Amino acid sequence: MEKIKDPRQFFFAIICNVCRYRCGTLQEMRLHVTRNCPVQPRKIDLCCGHCGHVFYKWPEIVEHLNQKDMHNQPAFRPEYVFPVDVRPDITLYPEDPENIMVCHIT
Ligand SMILES: [Zn+2]
Ligand SMILES: [Zn+2]
Repeated sequence: MEKIKDPRQFFFAIICNVCRYRCGTLQEMRLHVTRNCPVQPRKIDLCCGHCGHVFYKWPEIVEHLNQKDMHNQPAFRPEYVFPVDVRPDITLYPEDPENIMVCHIT
């Protein structure tokens, strides 16, 4: 399976209320609701672990989570924290500008 690369890894989970699937990026959740939800694909019923708000329209949760600094926000309750150890390696985004310059485009 191809590794998903999304720079916006949230500290909280985005939760599919249909089947309780949870993930830490919009990209993964998009795949889930469009294809992978085992209960009811294409139904949007998503809980934002940052504030507990439930979204029934995909563009609304995208707009909500695309706010500035959202990826630095904590979960509003401990059970909505998304485990840090499942995050992809963030060395893809080096802070040293010289490292960015030598990155190979593949
Ligand atoms: Zn689901
Ligand atoms: Zn929220």
